[in-house]
Amino acid sequence: MLLDRRVAGLRKSRPDLGEALDLQEVLVRTALTAARPPQAEPFPLPREAAAARARDGVPLLHDQPIALDVNFAADLFSRLANSLADRDQPELRPQLDALVEAATTGQLDPERLFAEAFVQHVDHVAELAASSGVDAELLATLAHQAVAPLLRAYAERLMPVLERAGGELWQRGYCPICGGWPLLGELRGVELSLWLRCSACGSGWRGRRLDCPYCANDDHRRLGTLVPDGENRYRLSVCERCKGYLKVGNAFDPPPPELLPIEDVVTLHLDVVAIERGYRRPGGSGYRIELAVPEGEWLEELA
Ligand SMILES: [Zn+2]
Ligand SMILES: [Zn+2]
Repeated sequence: MLLDRRVAGLRKSRPDLGEALDLQEVLVRTALTAARPPQAEPFPLPREAAAARARDGVPLLHDQPIALDVNFAADLFSRLANSLADRDQPELRPQLDALVEAATTGQLDPERLFAEAFVQHVDHVAELAASSGVDAELLATLAHQAVAPLLRAYAERLMPVLERAGGELWQRGYCPICGGWPLLGELRGVELSLWLRCSACGSGWRGRRLDCPYCANDDHRRLGTLVPDGENRYRLSVCERCKGYLKVGNAFDPPPPELLPIEDVVTLHLDVVAIERGYRRPGGSGYRIELAVPEGEWLEELA
């Protein structure tokens, strides 16, 4: 399994990662051991409509009638919570107990929680945490990871649609599928073209090397590169206009979407350098997508 090989290699070459790598490995492994794949129901999206969306910068999932596989997300959510509980971190215990309590007593509505996590409305997920009295960061992390396989399943279906419609039409710094911000940049091929990888669904799309992905600033005097001491694979692209940063590395062998969180942990030392110098990753998503209510549910509500 790719995860085993990657993690075994890193344990040898990067002993400094320690706990952070252990934790991420547990979370990724839990997601990979679901009893069944998530359901991603197709919806009609003609080629011209996909091309128009790409030109206008509207992610393909926006305003689509999607019936979320809530059972899949709820099962993964509780398995993730159990995996964390098994790690025996006493300081996390009270937060985990409160979370499990809220989820099992109905204080947290799973439909609402996973819908908000799917569209990456982090403000709404925070509101749900506050109203049900659970730790906001823990809820956001677990809900994000619980819906990630659903987002990846849609991305797998929709990426070929975008490519047939003309993938090069997409010129934005956020994800063409779900509107998420990039987690990382990858320099691919002999020409080292820039690919951005989505923090929510893992999709990869061509980025513009001379633009800030967050604010589209293209003034080269206000864009910079930081190479931390001793670093040979990654560098930081920074923007002086919005103070955003992106970790960009050579990718001879880009990781599959489900292993991207491992790459993020491997490059944590770059986040530290960026944050110390006053840069940040923007919160939320680049394009705030919404889900259209499927027709069947409108009819149920009217009945
Ligand atoms: Zn995405
Ligand atoms: Zn910027």
